[in-house]
Amino acid sequence: MAHAAAVAEWTSPWPKGEVPYRFTADFLTAAGARGRDCTGYERWTRGAEATIACRAMADWTARTGVRFFQADRLDSLDFIPGNGTDGTIGHWPAGNHVHIQKGATYGAVLHELGHVLGLMHEQQRPDRDRYIAFSKFLRDDMKSCNAGLNVCVDVATNFPTIKTKLQSDYDPCSLMHYLSDQTPRHREDPRWSKIYTLTKDGQAAFTKCRLKLKSLPSRCDKPGQKCTITAEDAVIVRRFELGT
Ligand SMILES: [Zn+2]
Repeated sequence: MAHAAAVAEWTSPWPKGEVPYRFTADFLTAAGARGRDCTGYERWTRGAEATIACRAMADWTARTGVRFFQADRLDSLDFIPGNGTDGTIGHWPAGNHVHIQKGATYGAVLHELGHVLGLMHEQQRPDRDRYIAFSKFLRDDMKSCNAGLNVCVDVATNFPTIKTKLQSDYDPCSLMHYLSDQTPRHREDPRWSKIYTLTKDGQAAFTKCRLKLKSLPSRCDKPGQKCTITAEDAVIVRRFELGT
């Protein structure tokens, strides 16, 4: 079976695999855009939020066939400034968005678009405990955490297992898998610099999938790489969004 990321049971696909998007005026100005869509983004300001988002959308299109187009609709995907970088999961009748924080990386935005296209975090799959072991502090936090604290909202949102459909083998190389070093999440707490280790089965899965990361920079050679859409991520999006 192919490796692939997973889709939560409650998630809806974008009708016909078409995603209307729009940028805030500030994002367009900062990128030096002439119009409101991604036309000519290759020549826009490097590292600007809209430039990164346009490149990420183009990459998802190239890998999956999902189409992005600028439009003002109730369900338009809004790219908006945020204190963190996050996104909604799958298609909603309204309120679809990706928050992009200042200095966000291409890999981070690529990951958020994976959410928008329906992918959930690989480490939230029901079978994840066979492949990764969370650090004790995080396991404790998952049992009891002070609701209301930022860190606890994160723990309650991004770590419990979720019922899934459209999944195959666990893929530690998925763009949608967390890095074990998620320090930027909670810089104030050094324990977040190691949130999990791979189990024996996880190590075996990583040994297999990392071969496909070979052509990437060495910083990408780790579980949760945050550099590229893997072939397996692309397959699951195609199956979900386009039904192929
Ligand atoms: Zn995520």
